[in-house]
Formats: sequence, structure tokens, C-alpha cells
Amino acid sequence: MNKQFGYGCEFCSGTVKAKRVDREAFKHKTGFVILEQVTIGVCDQCGSRYYAAETLKRVHAIASGKSKPTRTQRVPVAQAV
Ligand SMILES: [Zn+2]
Repeated sequence: MNKQFGYGCEFCSGTVKAKRVDREAFKHKTGFVILEQVTIGVCDQCGSRYYAAETLKRVHAIASGKSKPTRTQRVPVAQAV
């Protein structure tokens, strides 16, 4: 599952390494979806994050209501001062 990473970063000369994270917030058209225990790609030099196509598919399925989220949590929103 980790072999989808390991390619060169498109922003610097670093390498994108697979990293398992507890939670990652994905932005989509109407808000955010948070995936837990997800493997993402992180550049070992600049820290840019990369997502596998199947991860983005999952985000889209939840965002569009095709998949049910495990739970929904409220996120505080405020204007900047
Ligand atoms: Zn980079």
C-alpha cells in the first residue's frame, strides 16, 4: 500500500514518503472531511502533502453523501480579527 509514494516532490528535490497519520483534514467544495488512520505522502524536505487517488475518492464519497461517515463533529468557525 505504501508503494504509491516514493516519487519526487513537485515543489522541491525531496522525496515523497508514505506516512501514517492519526487524522488528516481534506478540503472539498463544501467544507472538510477528516479521515483517521490514513496513509498520506509527505515530502521529506518541504513537507508538502500528497494524497493517493483512493484516499481522495473516499473523501469525495463521504463529502457527496455516498459513504456514511463514522461520526460527524462540529468545527468552530470564526472571522479573523
Ligand atoms: Zn518537497
